Amino acid sequence: LPAPAAWQLTDADAAARLPLPDADDDKYTQGVVGIVAGSATYPGAGVLCTGAALRTRPGLVRYAGTAADGVRAAWPEAIVTDGRPGDAGRVQAWVVGPGMGTDDDARSVLAEVLATDLPVLADADALTMLAREPDLARNRPAPTVLTPHDREFARFGYGPGSDRIGAARRLAADLGAVVLLKGEATVVADPGGTAFVNATGTPWLATAGTGDVLSGITGALLATGLPAVEAAAVAAHVHGRAGQVAAARGPLIAGDLVRHLPEAISRVRGVR
Ligand code: AMP
Ligand code: MG
Repeated sequence: LPAPAAWQLTDADAAARLPLPDADDDKYTQGVVGIVAGSATYPGAGVLCTGAALRTRPGLVRYAGTAADGVRAAWPEAIVTDGRPGDAGRVQAWVVGPGMGTDDDARSVLAEVLATDLPVLADADALTMLAREPDLARNRPAPTVLTPHDREFARFGYGPGSDRIGAARRLAADLGAVVLLKGEATVVADPGGTAFVNATGTPWLATAGTGDVLSGITGALLATGLPAVEAAAVAAHVHGRAGQVAAARGPLIAGDLVRHLPEAISRVRGVR
């Protein structure tokens, strides 16, 4: 049988899945996301990822990592510890990987996060480590989302080649994870074969740090309880829209995506 066709989200599809606060909500019912990203070498990854999570507006963002000073200085709204993920307090989903490095400490933090029963978004350095030890991501009791670009994807041995949807489906099925394969044509696949092709974005996104922003958006949506494949597809949609909003003003840097996320989300909702 041919593989089922891939879906494409409209603004209305994405808007229906973006959380809006209710009168009886408080910060804990709005989603609590934990971020492990950045390092002394790459503090910016922690700052961008945390900022993107905050601007996607869950109730609370907790940061645990080795760029704590930089994140604290950039985002007074975040709750920051320079301890391990287990010291951060309760969260409902984790983001792990951007700029965190791949040394023994980083590997042990990755293993700690993947050993939880919470949804985990793994990106960047976490993917480098997972390509060496894919069993760390297998048989988790909660969803895992991987967000590789083509080179990170290739380390898992599944291409991508020209059939990006097929390649993403194969890795997703092998690891039992949602795979968001980034690039000019971003695709999302889940282990059951459901797939999305992203409709938003701009080549101006091809600049340092934009992937860290996508990780933060996706993690925040996972923390709100969206099914993992929907969180990934909606995150790609909103991230691409933020790129379009920022690019309309001139050459963009990743921080512009964070700054323009509220406007991008409002546009997706059809609010001007
Ligand atoms: P990363 O490589 O992790 O920094 O992520 C780069 C981000 O920019 C991803 O969200 C990609 O989908 C996006 N991106 C990179 N190149 C392009 C392109 N040529 N057109 C559209 N989006 C792109
Ligand atoms: Mg990246």
